[in-house]
Amino acid sequence: MGLTSPVQKEAEKSILLTSVEKMGRWAQKSSLWPATFGLACCAIEMMSVTNSRYDLARFGSEVFRASPRQADLMIVAGRVSQKMAPVLRTIWEQMPEPKWVISMGACASSGGVFDNYAIIQGVDHVVPVDVYVPGCPPNPEALMFGILKLQEMILEGVPPKYLQLQKEEEALARESQ
Ligand code: SF4
Repeated sequence: MGLTSPVQKEAEKSILLTSVEKMGRWAQKSSLWPATFGLACCAIEMMSVTNSRYDLARFGSEVFRASPRQADLMIVAGRVSQKMAPVLRTIWEQMPEPKWVISMGACASSGGVFDNYAIIQGVDHVVPVDVYVPGCPPNPEALMFGILKLQEMILEGVPPKYLQLQKEEEALARESQ
């Protein structure tokens, strides 16, 4: 026992044991690529998170992609009009799986002050939402907190919301048979 003790101590410091699944989740959460997609004033706060003051790059989520096919995170920053809803849905559908959605601000989450016929009263009517960030507008720190919460969920293995909904629908279909 005495002979292996220093070896054991060294091994504890330098060897990391994990599973392929956990490693994959760690890689996913550490390299979220948001789609470049802003709808209103909240988008200005969203853009701020990548600048040197807030430096979202510290958390590996600053690579905003111009193509949805290269993005796995949609940040809905601003109010969603009826006209924009199908466009937003198409962009979300073009994103590869697994993918996540953050609803940023009161307008995206509930329509905010725009309680009228032109604005969707919550983007969850259009795409499944994983994390809601409250505020009008949420400041960059709040958005970063939301992104960190999403990263925690990914690391813990919480499935994206659209997969949860799919499972619920399948269970309901089985029950109704
Ligand atoms: S929540 Fe406030 S800041 Fe964000 S889009 Fe709506 S009105 Fe603008």
